Amino acid sequence: MARTPLDRIRNIGITAHIDAGKTTTTERILYYTGKSHRIGEVHDGNTTTDYMDQERERGITITSAAVTAVWKDYRINVIDTPGHIDFNIEVNRSLRVLDGAVFIIEGVAGVQPQSETNWRLADRYNVPRLIFINKLDRTGADFYRAAATLTEKLGITWIALQLPIGIEDTFKGVVDLIEMKAIIWEGDELGAAYHYEDIPEDLKEKAAEYRQLLLDTALSVDDAGMEEYFEKGDVSVETLKRAIKRGTIDGTFRPVMCGTAFKNKGVQPLLDGVIDYLPSPIDIAGIKVAAEEGEDESVDRRIIPADESLPFAGLAFKIINDKYGNLTFVRVYAGVLKQGDMVMNTTKGHKERIGRMFQMHADKREEIKEVSAGDIAAFVGLKDTGTGDTLADQSDPVVLERMAFPIPVIDIS
Ligand code: GDP
Repeated sequence: MARTPLDRIRNIGITAHIDAGKTTTTERILYYTGKSHRIGEVHDGNTTTDYMDQERERGITITSAAVTAVWKDYRINVIDTPGHIDFNIEVNRSLRVLDGAVFIIEGVAGVQPQSETNWRLADRYNVPRLIFINKLDRTGADFYRAAATLTEKLGITWIALQLPIGIEDTFKGVVDLIEMKAIIWEGDELGAAYHYEDIPEDLKEKAAEYRQLLLDTALSVDDAGMEEYFEKGDVSVETLKRAIKRGTIDGTFRPVMCGTAFKNKGVQPLLDGVIDYLPSPIDIAGIKVAAEEGEDESVDRRIIPADESLPFAGLAFKIINDKYGNLTFVRVYAGVLKQGDMVMNTTKGHKERIGRMFQMHADKREEIKEVSAGDIAAFVGLKDTGTGDTLADQSDPVVLERMAFPIPVIDIS
């Protein structure tokens, strides 16, 4: 299998307040990326996740620690970020290895306490975020009110990339403020099909107003875009997308998309958004090496960039036991690692031989012969490598920055 170019990899997490729709949205993402052959609703106990549990019982390992999905020639690794407050340490740990996140809030309640907690954690690791306002089909849903809670509760600058068309029972599509077109989902049950139309008459004024906000905010980070805007009175789609991506990565503003995962509306544009606005491993600074014993944390330390030609360096972020033994999930930051290679566990100071490696898909695991910078794989049979340990080439035995503990636990009672 050909190596995926680094700029075509996205390592993302999906995070949400419990019940906001993380499971459903993840399901739809797996469905639309073609890696899930079944689709079901959470309430029937018929989801791929449940299906995976059954598979696990039968001994076929499928795990949700990190699932690889392919969308338009991009490889999207979806890393599980536990949503519940009790798993705060795990959220913290998984945030460390992802490059971007989809932050789901729901259309009725908006930002809820758990979303606030996870938001602060994502801030701590500078994780670029795209916000998805879900459940716009629900009674009482209100996109604008939900979006307002982003300002009220999180104090952030957000920009709408879409506006809903209809709401509750009548929610049928979105105005895409980048292309200035309406996207309308068609009747089929999985919502896989949609078409473009002109923006409905009654939304034209509002769309123009929000488009202006989008331009003003997005172009504030992009001199070339601002110049283009002054010259032509508008900007190209590419310029606008580039500016949004830049502002998303540096955290100047947070883009907002919307839909209803449950009714299959809005998920494909969200996947496009992940590709367009969340960073690839080379869009962001690499990973820092850990401070030496007793070294001042504030001292500038070496940063290892995402680069296949450097010596191998990766971080074990999750270990899962199954009947074949331990599966150690590793985020690779630099270099290439092949089956049979020896590496150092630099955290513990011993060598490990790399046995079989797998990439997890929603419905199968795929054996791979090598894994390279920017990607994620599960290793079988590592002898003594724990969560948070660094694996590195013997020629450059770095220890990567450890996850910061303890983390503040915010009381939501
Ligand atoms: P999680 O706890 O964030 O993983 O949320 P789930 O995906 O399990 O969703 C919680 C409940 O909300 C389930 O009963 C879903 O069927 C339902 N749900 C999820 N997304 C939507 C949506 O867009 N609209 C509606 N009406 N219900 C939804």
